Amino acid sequence: MSITVSDLIIPILVYPGSMKHLVFDIQKSGPILTSSDDEICLPVTDLVNIGITDVLLFGLPYRRDECGTSAADNSGAVQIAAKEIKRDFGSSVNVITDVCVCQYNFSGHCGISDNNYGRIDNFRSLDLLQEIAISHARSGADFVAPSSMMDGQVESIRQALDSCGFGAVKIMSYSAKHASSLYGPFRSVAFSSSKSHDLAFGKSAYQLPYSNRREAIREIEQDISEGANMVMIKPTLWYLDLVYEVKKMIDVPLVVQLVSGEYLMLRKGERIGGNNPGRFDKLIESLISVRRAGSDRVITYATMDFLRQVTKQLS
Ligand SMILES: [Zn+2]
Repeated sequence: MSITVSDLIIPILVYPGSMKHLVFDIQKSGPILTSSDDEICLPVTDLVNIGITDVLLFGLPYRRDECGTSAADNSGAVQIAAKEIKRDFGSSVNVITDVCVCQYNFSGHCGISDNNYGRIDNFRSLDLLQEIAISHARSGADFVAPSSMMDGQVESIRQALDSCGFGAVKIMSYSAKHASSLYGPFRSVAFSSSKSHDLAFGKSAYQLPYSNRREAIREIEQDISEGANMVMIKPTLWYLDLVYEVKKMIDVPLVVQLVSGEYLMLRKGERIGGNNPGRFDKLIESLISVRRAGSDRVITYATMDFLRQVTKQLS
């Protein structure tokens, strides 16, 4: 069993109105590899040079609004970044776009919420997810990746894409996204300017409980029946039993996301107990275990330099 750079998918956070290009700062626990939409192709060139073929774009808006409708703006950060990457790299880079609204709305919820009643309006949320997916497809996305965990999101997006002439655009669904304690470092970057840490009701209303194995499997089966081309389990390392079980059941590629909390634990762990912080042994062992359990692809927050190290050790 091995892992190569081509097994990895790199998440990139894009946002408008800034020229900053930052890499993951392990000391400060963030931020994640980021780039403004103005210079997105600079870091992507570096990634392509070390063999990355898939990028997952996660956007931040210039400003939030009530429902997060700016997520479907054709001139939003994700849309512009997707256009530029496809213009410069064509089919050599697969552009995957995160489709959600939590980083675009005031509530921080992954659907349109009514905090007065403590619930999500699933139907209105699906309409917005369709609009977002269409705008991403129009910008050249190869895959759209709905991550909101709304019921019926895959079927609804598939219908919208097909009816607008984007039948070739595929769907990577965040099928089993668990309500996890491991998303903290990412949220501290993506939601630093919102009140979303004080949600009136929790995301466990739609994200999966990590205590219920069967529910995760049901969600994955449901997404495949709705037309998902790839399915995802998230987080990863404490979920390898699910990865192993699901891989034996399905015939579409299985993706996992090693989330920010996992990544930071591994990196910080390198400094404990006399380990050599430059060797990345824990990360490599973890990635191999993820592949051994059955995952086809791994989304991971590794910097370009870090990836070069991993490649060197594995070759
Ligand atoms: Zn979300």
